[in-house]
Amino acid sequence: MSSPVLNVHRLKTAFATDDGEVTVVNDIDFHVNAGEVLGIVGESGCGKSVTSLSVMGLLPANGKVHGDIVFKGENLARASDQKMRSIRGNEIAMIFQEPMTSLNPVFTIGSQLIEALKIHKKMSKKQAQQLAIAKLKEVGLPRAEELMKDFPHQLSGGMRQRVMIAMAMMCSPQLLIADEPTTALDVTIQAQILELMTKLNSETDTAIMMITHDLGVVAEMCQRVVVMYAGKIVEEADVVSLFKNPKHPYTVGLIRSVPDMRGKKERLYSIPGNVPKPGSIQTGCQFAPRCEHAMERCFQETPELTSLAEAQKVRCWLYVESKGEGAVDRTIS
Ligand code: SF4
Repeated sequence: MSSPVLNVHRLKTAFATDDGEVTVVNDIDFHVNAGEVLGIVGESGCGKSVTSLSVMGLLPANGKVHGDIVFKGENLARASDQKMRSIRGNEIAMIFQEPMTSLNPVFTIGSQLIEALKIHKKMSKKQAQQLAIAKLKEVGLPRAEELMKDFPHQLSGGMRQRVMIAMAMMCSPQLLIADEPTTALDVTIQAQILELMTKLNSETDTAIMMITHDLGVVAEMCQRVVVMYAGKIVEEADVVSLFKNPKHPYTVGLIRSVPDMRGKKERLYSIPGNVPKPGSIQTGCQFAPRCEHAMERCFQETPELTSLAEAQKVRCWLYVESKGEGAVDRTIS
């Protein structure tokens, strides 16, 4: 098994607000192995994006990180701004849902691609240009030489996302964080972008942390999955176990919400209720108000993440023996 390129331990991210400190990511542990694709899944407001911004050191000024974010032996949670600037876009790259938020509209594609190389690699302008053209070709963009002179608004959404992937891959990062990279794209373009990312992952061995609400993306790309709910990890499993034998009622609900094109025409399931506001539930399981398996204990005590099998962990009282602390496996629907 390959070793972790990123190790996150007891990460807690909180924001100072007028109403006091609000914890959005609450004591999570996970790792990303070299070369693997890890999915981080959950509805909006579960803390997935804040987790990725914490890793990148891109939180707004009122955000604060506690815990350890260890990347290649360096604890990013305590790294200086200068150190983070040398890692971002170089050893760790990120792509976002909407490429226009990252591309500067007043600079050409070429100058923006070359910028990353000028910052992180000692390279002549000519070498940088050649590499930029090669990367644009690698991500499947036609007429790469002319594209270097184009401005972002001259490209379609799918092309812009390909440019973003090319830009992210310019410095051959060890870790690529992709935050909902296909959500803003048409379905056919989504499939092409996922295929491209899978190809880059297998060809370059870059690990990918895929932040998504879309279980289709997870099934397509990921080897392991972390399911987040209300700032906590509620289930962690390899992708086959997660889909074949989901344990947490939230994971079961997410999977039931995916339309089944082969089945009878039934009303599409949706998990009742909404993700609670951070800090609004102080006691018990955060999912209890929405859970059809909730018991009295669920509203009073907070379950811990429990190992059921080597690669599967779940945070739910259904899997804890009532008297002792041992784990008990079962199947729910
Ligand atoms: S701990 Fe209770 S409320 Fe929470 S997911 Fe499990 S059964 Fe549902």
